[in-house]
Order: sequence, then structure tokens, then C-alpha cells
Amino acid sequence: MFRQQAIRSISRRYATASATGTSTGPQARASVPDYALFSERLNLARSTILENKPLTLAQKILYAHLHDVGSMTSAPVAGETYLKLSPDRVAMQDASAQMAILQFMLSGMAQTAVPTSIHCDHLVEAYKGGDLDVARSWQSSREIYEFLQAASQKYGIAFWRPGSGIIHQLVLENYAAPGTLMLGTDSHTPNAGGLGMLAIGVGGADAVDAMAAIPWELKAPGIMGVHLRGKLSAWASPKDVILAVAGKLSVRGGTGFVVEYFGDGVDSLSCTGMATICNMGAEVGATTSVFPYAPSMARYLRATQRTGIAEAADTYRASYLSADTEVVADPSRYYDEVVEIDLAQLEPGYNGPFTPDLHTPRSKMTETTQAEGWTDRVSAALIGSCTNSSYQDLSRAASLARQASSRGLRVAEGTEFLVSPGSEQIRATMERDGIQAAFEGIGATVLANACGPCIGQWNRDAGRAPSRESNSIVSSFNRNFRARNDGNPNTLNFLASPEMVLAAALSGRLSFNPLTDKLRDADGKEFALEPPVGSELPAEGYAAGRDEYKPLLDHQPDRQIPIDPASQRLQSLDAFKPWNGRDFADTRVLVTVQGKCTTDHISAAGKWLKYKGHLENLARNTLIGAANAAMDGAVNLVRNAVPGLTPAEGTIPDVATSYRDAGVPWMVIADYNYGEGSAREHAAMQPRFLGCNMVVARS
Ligand code: SF4
Repeated sequence: MFRQQAIRSISRRYATASATGTSTGPQARASVPDYALFSERLNLARSTILENKPLTLAQKILYAHLHDVGSMTSAPVAGETYLKLSPDRVAMQDASAQMAILQFMLSGMAQTAVPTSIHCDHLVEAYKGGDLDVARSWQSSREIYEFLQAASQKYGIAFWRPGSGIIHQLVLENYAAPGTLMLGTDSHTPNAGGLGMLAIGVGGADAVDAMAAIPWELKAPGIMGVHLRGKLSAWASPKDVILAVAGKLSVRGGTGFVVEYFGDGVDSLSCTGMATICNMGAEVGATTSVFPYAPSMARYLRATQRTGIAEAADTYRASYLSADTEVVADPSRYYDEVVEIDLAQLEPGYNGPFTPDLHTPRSKMTETTQAEGWTDRVSAALIGSCTNSSYQDLSRAASLARQASSRGLRVAEGTEFLVSPGSEQIRATMERDGIQAAFEGIGATVLANACGPCIGQWNRDAGRAPSRESNSIVSSFNRNFRARNDGNPNTLNFLASPEMVLAAALSGRLSFNPLTDKLRDADGKEFALEPPVGSELPAEGYAAGRDEYKPLLDHQPDRQIPIDPASQRLQSLDAFKPWNGRDFADTRVLVTVQGKCTTDHISAAGKWLKYKGHLENLARNTLIGAANAAMDGAVNLVRNAVPGLTPAEGTIPDVATSYRDAGVPWMVIADYNYGEGSAREHAAMQPRFLGCNMVVARS
């Protein structure tokens, strides 16, 4: 009886804390997590269902966020038990937020149950750079921005305007807190694991669950421990850690796991470096990635005006914000898998082209480029994005740029050099500290604080772009699926650290190895680049940036949300018809998909991003990236299985539409990684909107 009362009491206290974001409301920038409550809940779970066994960090955070531990009778089993969780926060980017908000509007709630933020980052096209591109995005997406802003005002959501920054960077700077649980409608949400947060990328419907105080369900993940030892060498960076991990695990190796880092190597990494590593954990299919609370996290929290969180976290470092000592002492006993990485042995690497797990160490890159017939010439070098635009990243890359410009060198002829700052704070700090000048001094264009080329919003004009020709680009981004960046399926895209990207920009060649090769200065004299140097944090603190890029915090419960019935960008939702309870009969196989089928294949980005709030229009891209196993792998081509329907052979959305209009139910047979990626919401809704009643997938 006493135990049950305690559970009920804790549940009530927790629900109150979640709903209000502690005492400061859902728009709070950063409230101090209630670590006493998390610990209390964790201890209750330990004593009731976990037999007081040692726990990993990820398990601690998950079990401290169980919605109702009192209803559980046994320990969760990885891969079997569904955990019902109470997330602390939700973050959404502008492309996925549209559909989530359209759904949340159907809930009838007056405000979101947990603190929520919306970040306008995906719809800004990179073209002329910075403010000009933001201004153009207002022209092209005003309707979307005004819809999201009005919804934010109505429901008490923090609204970050276009130009303010990229969702994951802004979350790291403002909202991430060690030991808390966040859902984000974007697959690189795990970036916040660099600050010890369990941050999980989900579809909009999951986010709406959390926003509506419905327990969020997650199949209990396995926990993969990555043991980091030693310290990175001068040319290696945190990016090289995750490039190597991706090379070891492949794009499927992390599926069903939380990747948890531990070991003495953790304390040698910056908080933002750990965020880079967690960010790209999405590329191995992991549920999320997380680091234990470390001194660099405390330094970062203080530098971003969150000393209160650092002080509270310091107190709970051993008990709640890291794995139990038994786990660290005997990892193979407690982690489901263990990966060993000696940081001192890591060399810079390149992953790609076309897949983020094809890893080539720098020392093998020259010969591999020749052996594979990759285009050696680098047409564009891109740094920044949510993955790599920390002060450390940019200051290290700038140190190379300064070495070059002091010898009169600029980026190689024919190589475009673009910089995407992750936030206004980073951009302003970069400008104040001369980093921007160092980049511009060698010919860089600084783009808006937005996703830009990373999400395919890249207008490579005719004069500069190599059109559909084969060409190589090197970026510090995280994804490199074919055609993702510039829409050109013949662009070979390699992922690398900002330092390696900078070296590629200066040399204009993939085969250039800055560790061993020499550049020629303006007088033709050879010189070698010294290893990059930078600072973890700005010595003078972060610059605040411009006021127009501060978040809008303006709760207006009576605000009307505008949706024009004639709009081509937004469309109110109607509920799908529920299943009638009968078996499916006469279901046609629309397509048997060959190979991987991520959300990029099911709901392509690029030019389609503008329809994210209009299900009917967006459905015209359904499965257009899918290869049809029944037609020799032809992409977006199927035969109509119903005699008399037109087209007899056509694109997947056209044939699907003909089935739907004729009342013919259809299904998809898929291979592996079906639906993995950022656009899960749409990847689920679009086929159903077109009449799909089933997807059968290998994984
Ligand atoms: Fe934007 Fe690229 Fe980061 Fe996604 S991965 S949030 S597209 S910068």
C-alpha cells in the first residue's frame, strides 16, 4: 500500500513538472531539471522492477522517465517490451512541424503539455548567402512561417524565425540538459546527446503524443557501449570518431540500440564535439546516442548562460548522469555490444560517396580515389550545418584558412567554398572573432544560419554548378545519399571534418593529404599546412547576435491560425478512415522495393519540402526514389496490375492514384531499412493517403 501511494505521488509530481516546464512555463529557455525527482523515480524503478542491478546511463534516463512505473511488473526486455515514457520537451523543424501542428490542432488542447519549440531552418534556400537568402525564403514561404508563428503563439510554443539557426544547434545552445528526455521531429535530434540528454528523432505523430501528454511508446532499446580511450591527435577531430564508428557499424549496425559512450577518452572531448558524434549516430540507425555528464558539458552550460543546470548536474554526476561504476568496470557484462576506439590511433577520414558508412582513412584516400575512379577535382567544399558548426570546428578550420591567406592563397580555382553557421549566436561570434574574415579571405561565401545545401536547398547556378556531370564535393554534413545536396545524382559527396573540408577547398583535390602533401603559395613556393588549432569555447564568450533572431515568446491563446482553402502549401487534415476490422482482400502489390528504402526514397526532400503541410500535393512524390525489383530496379516505374486502368505503366504515385480513385487497395513489399530517416511522418501518411493498406518489409 505504501509503495503504491509513493508511486502515485511521484507520478503526480512528475506530471506537474512536465506540464509546466517547472515553474517558468513552456516557453522557458532552460529550466533546471528536477534531478531529485528523476533520481526518486529511478530508485523506485530499481527497487521494484530492476532488482537493483547496475545500469547504463541510457537505462537510467529511460527508467527515470517511465510514465507509470507502478504498472510494470518486471524489468523491460530490449527489443520486446514497449516502454511508455514521459518526455520533458519537444523540438520541431519547419518542414516536419507543419504536419505535426495540423495534427495537434485536432486535439483541441489550449497549449502544449511540455515545453516545445519550432525552428525555421529547412526552407531557406542557399543561393546568394546570409540575409539575402533569408529574405528570399520569406518571399517563398511566408505562408508557412505565418502559419507556424500563429500556431506557436496560440499553443505557447517558442518560435525561432528563419535565419535564427538550425534546430539541433539551437537546442544545444538553449534547451538541452543532461539526464532529460526530448523528442525532436528530425532524425539528427540525438545531437543533444553531446550534452547528456537522451534526445530521440521521431515522426510528427510521436511528437504530438508528447505535446498532448499522451505517454510516448518506445520499444526498449539495446544499449551499445562505445569505449573511448586516449586523446585525439592534432589533425583528428570528433567528426573522425563518428566517421570511424559509422565505418565499423554500417548504416544498419546501430538499429535498435542506444549508443552510449564511456571511458577516459570522454573527458578529452569538447561538449560540441560530443554533439557532433551523437548527431551522426543517426547514420548508423541508432535510436539515439548519449555521453555521460563531463567537465566540458559544465563549461558549455556556463558559456551558454546555464550555470544553474551545471551546478545541479554536478551534484548528480555519479548517481544519475553516468553509468554505474560496475558497468564501466565490466562493460561487456552490461552493454549488449561493446565497440573499442583508441582516439590516439584515429586518423582523419572521409565517408562516401552516396552512403555515410563507406569509410576511407586519410592515408588511404589518394589510392582509393584512383582505384574507385572517383572524380579527384573538388567542385565544392562545405562546412558548418547542425553537425559541425561549433566554435571549436570553425576556429580550427579558420586556423588553416589563415595559414593559406598569409601566403596569398585562396580556395582552388573552380572550387566553391560555403559556410553554413548553425545559429545566429555562432555566426555573430564567428564574425566578432575574425573567423568569418578568415574564411572570406580565402573566398568563402557565408550562407544563412539554416540547413541550405545539407537538405538539398542549394541553388547551384548555371555558371558555377557542374550541371549533371560527375563531380565531387566534400562537406562536414552528416548525410550523403545520392542527389541529397544538389539534386544531381552524379555528385559524389564525401563527409569529413571541417579541417579536412578546408584542406580540400584549398587544394581542390580529394587526393590531397594535408598531413603529408604540400600546397603552392601565390609565388609557386611549396609549403605544408601546420595542424589546425582552435578553442573549445570563445575566450570572450558567445556574442548574442541580432535581436530579430531571438525566439518569439508570445502566448496568445485566442490567436487564429490561418489556412487558406486554396493554398498549395497547407491543407487542413481529415482523419483517416479506421480499419473496418476485416481481412484485406484483392490487395494489389504496387511495388516490390529493391534494397534500402529510407524516408528519402518514400518522401523525397529538395523541391518537395515546400509541400510538407499539404498532404495531397506532397503525395505526388510518394516512393519516387524506390527501385522496382520487378522491373530490373527501375526507379519510380511500375506496371498497373488492374486491366483498363491508366496509366498502364507509369510513376509510382500516378499508378497508386489510379488504384485509389478506382477503390483498389494496394500494398508495398519492401526490403530493408524501410522508413528510416527524417521524414517518417510523411513516409507513413502519404502511402495511406493514396490508398495503401499495408507495407511488408524485411526491416
Ligand atoms: Fe538541417 Fe542538415 Fe542538420 Fe538536417 S542534418 S537539421 S538538414 S543541417
